[in-house]
Amino acid sequence: MKQLNTLIQINEIKYITNSLLHEANGYLEIKYFGNEINNKNEIILQATVTKGIEAFEVNLEIKFTYTNECSRCLTKNNKKDHAEFNKSFSLASNNDYDINFDKDSIDLLPIVSEIIISKMEFDDKCKKDCKGLCYICGKDQNEHKCTHKEKNLKESPFSSLSELDL
Ligand SMILES: [Zn+2]
Ligand SMILES: [Zn+2]
Repeated sequence: MKQLNTLIQINEIKYITNSLLHEANGYLEIKYFGNEINNKNEIILQATVTKGIEAFEVNLEIKFTYTNECSRCLTKNNKKDHAEFNKSFSLASNNDYDINFDKDSIDLLPIVSEIIISKMEFDDKCKKDCKGLCYICGKDQNEHKCTHKEKNLKESPFSSLSELDL
């Protein structure tokens, strides 16, 4: 899969009131708090840029998949989502995305990344009662219930040093 092309040539609509359509598909590398998009996750972008009076209107439709890590057991799950974005950018002022509409092309990457990240889930669990990982040995407690004797570990504040060869 190729990288998502977020670059749009706007020179042809710079001086006339008109729209142009940019359609692209591909991947981006995004990692954000247990969420990840890589070259196995396709992003489908449909962008319309319209030149108005002293402004450019940007309308985006994005479909994407990503993997989300369970915040307890760290199992990866595939998720699917879509998002829309509609905003008018005045040519008289700067914008939050640092997109310069005076140039011949604009890069929508900051917008696309922000939209995707805003849709991602945080602190998500694979199931409501996920038992998570054992904090001693790291085994998934949904599959196997550990029965370590916690007592021994907590008895002495220096127990972690007992394995050191002093
Ligand atoms: Zn889980
Ligand atoms: Zn364990």
